[in-house]
Amino acid sequence: MSVLEISDLTARHGLLSAVKGVSFSVAPGEVVALVGANGAGKSTLLRSIAGAHQDQGGTVTLKGEDLTGCDAHKRVQRGLALVPEGRKLFSQMNVWENLCLGAQVGRSGDWTPERVFDVFDNLNKRRYSACTHLSGGEQQAVAIGRALVSNPDVIMLDEVSLGLSPAIVDRVYAVLPELRASGTGVIVVEQDLGRAMSVADRVICMLEGEIVLQGRADSLSREEIIGAYFGLPPGAQGSEDHANPAMGAMT
Ligand code: ATP
Repeated sequence: MSVLEISDLTARHGLLSAVKGVSFSVAPGEVVALVGANGAGKSTLLRSIAGAHQDQGGTVTLKGEDLTGCDAHKRVQRGLALVPEGRKLFSQMNVWENLCLGAQVGRSGDWTPERVFDVFDNLNKRRYSACTHLSGGEQQAVAIGRALVSNPDVIMLDEVSLGLSPAIVDRVYAVLPELRASGTGVIVVEQDLGRAMSVADRVICMLEGEIVLQGRADSLSREEIIGAYFGLPPGAQGSEDHANPAMGAMT
């Protein structure tokens, strides 16, 4: 039984077809890592699922309810939260106000602004600071906290570790076991393949708007994923490929 069902999702940017008939599902408490090169369509896919990208087709079903056609706000109310790439905080508002905005959708659950301050205790002393004055790690914590306080059934995290120190990234990912235990489905876009494979139950690899590989994280090899990431034929991902400059992100 899945909590989220994506069927034949398509999304365009004008004439460009960015997501081409993508289907997959997420089980309650499952962590799915979405990987792929720059421009593969990961962000457009997440934004389409969240209802933040308009030019789309296919269906999005959450807990059996068809959300296709619902706007982004309604999808949050129904339990679908997105932490977008680049955080998109209300920068002039303080931390507390940003979290209260997230809680305004009125979904009941364990996540409250106070609980976010417990989990991300570095935010506690910053609760009345305008977000524009926060560090990158603190801003990321607010963005995640704002999504959590909507008590989602599925949370989508788009490159939340981008530009953060490894210690801060550890802190961000430390929240995953709790989400898994509470039955919240998680989709995480992560450029660090090692980290993606270590935190995820399942890995989905996109290339040019399509899913080219998916499977349990413990059943896929790093080489298989790298091959799919670059669209290489099976067996072609030899050690010489590690000289490819694009591999820098695939640490
Ligand atoms: P990245 O890791 O760089 O964020 P991605 O896998 O998330 O990449 P998308 O950002 O979804 O990929 O981009 C998919 C395709 O859509 C790319 O060809 C990109 O150039 C294009 N695209 C993305 N946003 C826009 C936009 N606002 N206008 C036009 N084209 C866009």
